[in-house]
Amino acid sequence: MSDDLETMRQIAELAESDLPLLVLDVDDVILEFIRPFPVYLRERGFELKFDSFSLNGNIADLASGARIGKDHVSQLVDDFFDVQHDWQELAENAAEIIAGLAGSAEVVLLTAMPHRHRARRRALLDNLDLPYPLVTTERAKGPAIKLLRGTHPRPVAFVDDMYHNLISARDAVADAHLFHLLHRPENRNRFSESTMHRFRVLERPCVASKWTHGALMADNSVRALLPPVPEGITRVEHWREAGPTIARALGV
Ligand SMILES: [Mg+2]
Repeated sequence: MSDDLETMRQIAELAESDLPLLVLDVDDVILEFIRPFPVYLRERGFELKFDSFSLNGNIADLASGARIGKDHVSQLVDDFFDVQHDWQELAENAAEIIAGLAGSAEVVLLTAMPHRHRARRRALLDNLDLPYPLVTTERAKGPAIKLLRGTHPRPVAFVDDMYHNLISARDAVADAHLFHLLHRPENRNRFSESTMHRFRVLERPCVASKWTHGALMADNSVRALLPPVPEGITRVEHWREAGPTIARALGV
């Protein structure tokens, strides 16, 4: 049982299904986060350092070099979600592979973010042709996945880029198939034309090189900081690999 009442309410609204259940995280699984976020920070006068695998303690004021506190980090992340539609692009191959799985599985998107951003995220996902139900949670994901499964003993697969979410799922749903996917774009050094156009990047050459550098560094640094994958969790490198692996696990 999730201890997030709003999450429980959202799950109760979903139609019951006895299809195999596929639960997907959103940030850095379906939508890019760690690539655009440092660039967004730079536009706001901050810099993301990669001293550890955490945002807290790793964001510095560009002018003073001072690290900002936890509340300020939360505020910047919150502000980012307010403008997520300007920054977050779809992970390569995610849409078509999820659509293929959705033919024989129930797909639910489970995102850890303040509930107040749900409508904005829903609109962005709809824009990107991702019509699957979206559940927000401000608490652990495992109990929410257990609730999503319901009483039917159907197979469950869960994909996330954060170990603590996968471990929470492992604790709550012992037989869930767990996949670690940290989306990595093949074309890692640039954003889409539309995003660069929106921020007039190409008209600002020094900004363009910082964007490229920031995006590439984020991608490489995060991977270098990743500890070994915990027991019982399968790492997949990209969506093309994830598709058939998930299908096999769910028996679809
Ligand atoms: Mg994520």
